[in-house]
Amino acid sequence: MALRFYNSLTNKIEEFVPQKGKKVNMYVCGPTVYNYIHIGNARPVIFYDMMKRYLEFLGYDVTYASNITDVDDKIINKAIAEGKSEEEVAKFFEEQYWNSVEMVGSKKPDLIPHATQYIPEMINFINDLIHEGYAYGNDGDVFFRVGKIKDYGCLSNQVSDDLESGARIAVNDKKESPLDFALWKKTDKGIKWDSPFGAGRPGWHTECVCMNHKLFGDTIDIHGGGMDLKFPHHENEIAQSEALYHNHLAKYWLHVGRLDLQGEKMSKSLGNVIFVKDLESKKDGMILRSLILFSPYRSIISYSEDLKNQYAKEYDKWQRAYKQALYTLQYNDINGDNLNDAEINKFKEFMDDDFNVQNVLTLITDIVKQVNVLTRSKDYQNLLVELNTFKKILDVLGINLFIEKMTEEQLDSYKKWQDARNNKDFDTADIYRAKLVEWNIL
Ligand SMILES: [Zn+2]
Repeated sequence: MALRFYNSLTNKIEEFVPQKGKKVNMYVCGPTVYNYIHIGNARPVIFYDMMKRYLEFLGYDVTYASNITDVDDKIINKAIAEGKSEEEVAKFFEEQYWNSVEMVGSKKPDLIPHATQYIPEMINFINDLIHEGYAYGNDGDVFFRVGKIKDYGCLSNQVSDDLESGARIAVNDKKESPLDFALWKKTDKGIKWDSPFGAGRPGWHTECVCMNHKLFGDTIDIHGGGMDLKFPHHENEIAQSEALYHNHLAKYWLHVGRLDLQGEKMSKSLGNVIFVKDLESKKDGMILRSLILFSPYRSIISYSEDLKNQYAKEYDKWQRAYKQALYTLQYNDINGDNLNDAEINKFKEFMDDDFNVQNVLTLITDIVKQVNVLTRSKDYQNLLVELNTFKKILDVLGINLFIEKMTEEQLDSYKKWQDARNNKDFDTADIYRAKLVEWNIL
């Protein structure tokens, strides 16, 4: 079995065959840093981090890039409103972003291109598009000529007529066609750069294509993002890449579904938002991570307190089983790193099947039951294998239970507690028990 997943570009589940053997490059659209991220924004942050971990588990050498959009109208407006520079606003919210990424257990990407560091490249890129006839300037703005791209709409599968009638709502006299989108925006306020087209700033759609090309050159393997980016952002990335590089930018396009709050779209402007920064503990971050990972990645998640509590209960079960087994094995000095191959193969089989995480969750539930049974029956060798397997699967998913082996001092107390219990010396046992409870071992 090989890894297969849904390619949004072809609308088919396809076998994953990277272009350069074991080397994989993936690019995921990152945040515009003008506010804190909410738990819906965290969904791609969690999913693609898991995807990278899984590819590495399969033996691929993955380079994962995700950008920071540090220039945008929203940042400019925030800077003006707060009497700060755009740089200050962007720096602050970028730092907050990385805190949130850590909170949900994701690693920083390998490459983090910032839009403001690629301005000369973007200007050259836009110049090339103009020279090739794919873009035109008008009074300091530059637009992409969508009509020149024959298969425009290939990703979002909206035929041009549909797109055009939708786009007509926003009429812009400067454009040749309502579908055309801005590559360079003339600005009269906020941060701007000089260019052959006039002073202004680059458009968001150009940023990702240009940085992608600078970082990776040819067609990349995987381009990811949230479902809401499919149109127009990703469609427009593809259009620009087709114009200059004659490719669809990436071989595989992936889109993760939205996360709604009790059936309603979360929106900062509506105020029905849960920010990641407001999660109370790292454990809450892990509960959110589990909730997101074990929901089918292409479907909408309807987040609720009930759903969260359901995963909180699961997580508690995992922690309890893991803790008991780990300390039991440590107490009995049982060590080793063997895995249950049959279960690891099942895990792979489910993950390879377009990330069938629901089956993975069932597998984990079975393993946890098995861990409890083996702990009770004192079958330590099998318990060790089962526990290693449990840990391995959680590691690949990036789920941390935050339970470490006991220190020497703790183990010593643990032994004394067990001895006292065996000797029915309950007063002494209680003394050690209290210590172990304080350390959160019992
Ligand atoms: Zn992008």
